Amino acid sequence: MGIDAEWLRAHIRELPDHPEPGVSFKDITPLLASTEAFAATIDAVSEPYTAPNSEHGEIDKVIGIEARGFMIAAPVAYRLGAGFVPVRKAGKLPWQVESEAYTLEYGAGELELHRDSIAEGERVLIIDDVLATGGTASASVRLAERLGGNVVGLGFLIELAFLGGRDRLPGHAIHSLVRY
Ligand code: AMP
Repeated sequence: MGIDAEWLRAHIRELPDHPEPGVSFKDITPLLASTEAFAATIDAVSEPYTAPNSEHGEIDKVIGIEARGFMIAAPVAYRLGAGFVPVRKAGKLPWQVESEAYTLEYGAGELELHRDSIAEGERVLIIDDVLATGGTASASVRLAERLGGNVVGLGFLIELAFLGGRDRLPGHAIHSLVRY
C-alpha cells in the first residue's frame, strides 16, 4: 500500500513555459514508458477503490478525460472491473452527446459525453493525468451528474496544489499521487 511519490516524480519531465509562458508542463510520457512506474501508477490510482472495506464502494464506470486521461483511466477500469467512458473534446464523439464549456490552465473549450454512456444511479470514478485549476474535472463532474451518475471520486496522477483545483470540486473525494 502507498506509493513512493518521489520515485514516481522522477519519471515526470517538467517543461518550463510550455505551452505558454508561466506554465510548467508535466510530461508523463517517461512514466508511461516505464514498465514499473506505469504499473505502480495504475495500482495506486485504483487502490482507494480496491482496498478491503473501501469507503467508496463499487465502481460501475470509470471516466477518462481526453487525451492523457484515457491512458490511465482505461487500465484502471480494467483493474476495477468497471466500464470505461470517454469524455472528449467537442466534435469527436459520433453519437448523441451532452456538452459542457470548460476552462483549463492554458485554454478553454467544450467537453462532451455520450448520452447513453452512464445510467441513472451508476457509481462513477473520474480520472485525468493532471488536476490544475479544476476546470476540466468540474466540467466532467457536471456531465456525469447530468446523466444521473453518482460521482464517488476523482483520481489524478499529478496535482498542482498551488492552483487550488480542489476548491472547484467541493464535496468530492479526490486522490492524487504526486503533488507540486
Ligand atoms: P485544469 O482544467 O486547469 O485542472 O487542467 C487540467 C487539464 O489540463 C488536464 O487534462 C491536463 O492534461 C491539462 N493540464 C493542465 N495543466 C497542465 C500542466 N501543467 N501539465 C500538463 N497538463 C496540464
